[in-house]
Amino acid sequence: MIPVYEPYLGEKELRNVVEAVESGWISSLGKYVNQFEEEFATFCGVKYGIATSNGTTAIHLALASIGVGGGDEVIVPSLTFVATANAVHYTGARVVFADSEPYTWNIDPVDVKKKITKRTKAIIVVHLYGHPANMETLLDLGKEYGIYIVEDAAEAHGAEYKGRRVGGIGDIGCFSFYGNKVITTGEGGMVVTDNEEIAEKAKLLRDHGMSPTKRYWFPEIGFNYRITNLQAAVGVAQMEKIEKIIELKREIAAEYNSLLKDVDGVKLPPEKEWARNVYWMYSILVRPPYRISRDELMKELAAEGIDSRPFFYPVHTMPPYFTGENLSIAESLSSSGINLPSSPRLKREDIKRIVGVIRRYGG
Ligand SMILES: *Cc1c(COP(=O)(O)O)cnc(C)c1O
Repeated sequence: MIPVYEPYLGEKELRNVVEAVESGWISSLGKYVNQFEEEFATFCGVKYGIATSNGTTAIHLALASIGVGGGDEVIVPSLTFVATANAVHYTGARVVFADSEPYTWNIDPVDVKKKITKRTKAIIVVHLYGHPANMETLLDLGKEYGIYIVEDAAEAHGAEYKGRRVGGIGDIGCFSFYGNKVITTGEGGMVVTDNEEIAEKAKLLRDHGMSPTKRYWFPEIGFNYRITNLQAAVGVAQMEKIEKIIELKREIAAEYNSLLKDVDGVKLPPEKEWARNVYWMYSILVRPPYRISRDELMKELAAEGIDSRPFFYPVHTMPPYFTGENLSIAESLSSSGINLPSSPRLKREDIKRIVGVIRRYGG
């Protein structure tokens, strides 16, 4: 079976974890937490990193740190992993959905603009499947209307927008280190920002809301969203490989692209002139004249021992968030998109085998 993803782990991860266990620092104090935060923030080109228990808590913490709450509205792309919307819901704010752009698969600034009201407090930009969103237009909207720009970069560690790494471009960025993300700590996440005030607030809220100067004094209600030193030990080892992992992923994408470029009905993943895609999931769209449907193709692949995933369902079509809106680009991408095996260790022969199955039904 060729899996959709496998973590890229080695000896160093193991040694760091053993060292953390032997040191006795297994909860959220310990040297690896600070080191991981500093290295990852530097990687993103910003001053502060606040590590969290997972990517969802990172987004919730980011929203809480900029003061999102009841009565506010937050605009998110409908085509995203559900955690983006859930994190907004946890704050008590209303989730407002925007459509996607056909060519980057990311939130459409034109639709965002239509959905801004006087209650809009933030826009969450998701860099879907590793391709950066169109940041400049969104940052301009943020400035014009006094709205925070939050980046959900859970799928795009190291992706670049005009030479700048995502996560560090908006007011605050969020990452996930789940087992299938670009780098992993098992479970884990991080909030990154250049804004000292937001960073201080995030640290306070991550640790039950406890005053940094007065132990067991809680000026406000916070959360326990801390990462453990064990997880951070893995994260520090992963930081040594992150550039290598991204290089491997880009090579894999180039190989897929060269073998799939002339297949009728297969649309290759985007990489705009201004973007560096990290191809978290190497993804294609299959549409007529391709001779079978996306779901049929997934079955054909499975029959050959090849795992794949459908694109996310648009969040506004699912029961908790159903709006009845017609967000036609998100819906069309969702029904034709497929994530192909994308592990950094994927072999050239594996790619040839996967492409062999896809080519059978080219229009
Ligand atoms: C993975 C992911 C998350 C959530 O991360 P967890 O670590 O699984 O909580 C949030 N947003 C997007 C876009 C993701 O892909």
